[in-house]
Amino acid sequence: MHDEDERIDEARVIEQGRQLVASIVNLALSVPAGGDVRWDKLLVALGVSGLAPDERARDLREGPGQSKGALVLEVRWAIEAGLAPLLELLDQPWRLRELGEQALRDYLGAVKPRISTSSIFANALATTKPIVSGGASASAEPCRFCGAPRADRSKPSCRYCGESFT
Ligand SMILES: [Zn+2]
Repeated sequence: MHDEDERIDEARVIEQGRQLVASIVNLALSVPAGGDVRWDKLLVALGVSGLAPDERARDLREGPGQSKGALVLEVRWAIEAGLAPLLELLDQPWRLRELGEQALRDYLGAVKPRISTSSIFANALATTKPIVSGGASASAEPCRFCGAPRADRSKPSCRYCGESFT
């Protein structure tokens, strides 16, 4: 008669979330830049509709400068979608939410190319730098999360990583 005493084991829920986030990030890291069929399947499984192919291509060109892995924005969506049902079980969801945010930050660090003297030279040779011209102001401050230029100042969040600007 004490069914209500069967409380949710918060530590277990958090551990479940940690494993889920780890598996999302591991797959995201293992796919080619912009994702592949395995990544698409994961998004579908999580109920996330990914970006259209042309938007993915644009993100790779103009975004934070990913050299590999699924797009940061889609990884954010995947983590959020995966954690959402678990967060509802917790009295204090901030711990798990923070875990997800930290994982995304780590992910971004892992897929952004490191700048070293040798890679600067390599990048200079390999990259056809997209010319940002016209509307976007050169003084627009970059996204503090991913470092990409803030293209559209009317948008409340970063087009490339989903970080809120507020
Ligand atoms: Zn960003």
